[in-house]
Amino acid sequence: MPTAAQRKALKSTENLVRTFQNLPGRQRKEGIASPRPTQYSRDAQRQRVYDAEHDFVRLVRGRAEHPRISISGVSMDVPDILRFGDLSAVQAFVDQVTRHAGASRISVHTNDRLAQRANYSGGVITLPLGGADHRWAWNQAVLLHEIAHHLTAGAKHNSPFPAALTELFTTWISPEAGLLLRLLYLDLGVKL
Ligand SMILES: [Zn+2]
Repeated sequence: MPTAAQRKALKSTENLVRTFQNLPGRQRKEGIASPRPTQYSRDAQRQRVYDAEHDFVRLVRGRAEHPRISISGVSMDVPDILRFGDLSAVQAFVDQVTRHAGASRISVHTNDRLAQRANYSGGVITLPLGGADHRWAWNQAVLLHEIAHHLTAGAKHNSPFPAALTELFTTWISPEAGLLLRLLYLDLGVKL
């Protein structure tokens, strides 16, 4: 079992990654799987899932300067993602996705005490409050991640969560976005 200190370090790493801040460089060495602080838990590939999505968002943010990339021998245009300006737009998007998937409804709330993270639990997505500092979570990539938890209840970040999220990216962002996420997952050894 991880020690209390390890759990605390893990928690702060998770929060850091969840903010999708522009951290300098990737969080791992090329070709070497990222350290797995969660290997003792059943959510063993959580960090790699976050790392892949962090890379995805970093590429999206840099698309003005680098509109085309080559990854694993595949050249593609870097996709863009929608950002939402208010909670009703967020809720409308989430409703559209769950209806299309034939899933039960998710209600979206904000919580100013969760300023650093988005969260899914029991049919509820909680987002940081809107506003310049917190709006990072009000975009398709973060919302689809939380919706994928709804669609793969109990899987945490294990299979089939990554496959479900890849499919959501393909359907709701673009085929290129789904392909890019899949390649980033494979690059990091994430099991789909
Ligand atoms: Zn998650």
